[in-house]
Amino acid sequence: MIESALSAVRHRMEAAMVRAGRVDRVRLVGVTKNHPVEAVEEAAALGVAIVGENRVQEAKQKIEAYQGPPIEWHLIGHLQVNKVRQAVPLFSLIHSVDSRKVLDEIERVAAKHEKVQDVLLQLNIACEASKSGMLLEEYPALREYAQTLPHVRVRGLMCMAPFFENAEESRPIFRVAAALYEDMKQYFPPEQISYLSMGMTHDFEVAIEEGANLIRVGTAIFGERIYK
Ligand SMILES: *Cc1c(COP(=O)(O)O)cnc(C)c1O
Repeated sequence: MIESALSAVRHRMEAAMVRAGRVDRVRLVGVTKNHPVEAVEEAAALGVAIVGENRVQEAKQKIEAYQGPPIEWHLIGHLQVNKVRQAVPLFSLIHSVDSRKVLDEIERVAAKHEKVQDVLLQLNIACEASKSGMLLEEYPALREYAQTLPHVRVRGLMCMAPFFENAEESRPIFRVAAALYEDMKQYFPPEQISYLSMGMTHDFEVAIEEGANLIRVGTAIFGERIYK
């Protein structure tokens, strides 16, 4: 059922790469929040290798029920301190780290699991009160702090643009994120910084044109979500 939608998304990704003259790779995160595990299984069978979930509890149930080829599970939704204990063993990448408190708790839990947790720092570039993510003025201190934590490995940045009718309006925000992402490479071992996560259903093409290499797409693949 999702096959043609997925193939349309892949074609649009490819076209955006060509427009931007990019020869590197963009990875697709299929966002399955509010969709059943069968949707994950269907996507995985069609080659989707990364699945993004917003809520730890919902993801845990799907991860336990999932049957299919090995896939990566990413946490893309806001992470509360009290959910970190459950989240760390489940996710290969947490996109949504935005506070010192969450970093401290990831460090504590990951140490206990003898795991180094890969994370992205989530930026709130447009300063939207309704969105999570750190403000740009908080970012340098949090980036430095994260470097002191042996069980946290920062792999890049994540951001969300506000919803604009015209996705072109997201472009300046994505451009700021891309510049900060490039700048980040001087503070960490170069091979460690590899993910710029930005772009969703309505703006992923603009995000790719501005350098995203991880896009998070739900609706365009799985259809509208039914909120419970
Ligand atoms: C839901 C969600 C997405 C996917 O949104 P779509 O518009 O359905 O593609 C991407 N990123 C985050 C953080 C989300 O919460």
